[in-house]
Amino acid sequence: MLVDELTKGDQDERVLFNVMEEMVRRSVDETIGTLDMCDCEICRLNACAIALNTLPPHYVTSKRGNLLAQVSGEMLNYKTQVLVETTRALLNVKEHPLHDIKN
Ligand SMILES: [Zn+2]
Repeated sequence: MLVDELTKGDQDERVLFNVMEEMVRRSVDETIGTLDMCDCEICRLNACAIALNTLPPHYVTSKRGNLLAQVSGEMLNYKTQVLVETTRALLNVKEHPLHDIKN
């Protein structure tokens, strides 16, 4: 997860973090297995892109040492909205897989 990378290093250093991206990545990983669809990296990332283009970004700044706690708290506020949009995005990818497009 992105947040795990950002919590490494100087714990007092301030970082900028898009909570929405972390939430969408997690939600896609958790939901894709329930939808009877391809779960390859291409499909996962395409679903993330679709969902993140629909949802508003949500940035927080925090010290590295506090980031995980702050992100966890913020996630509770957006859980339902994120699940709705990631499910919609995953179903879109399921209907229209983009494996054959090389880019
Ligand atoms: Zn796939």
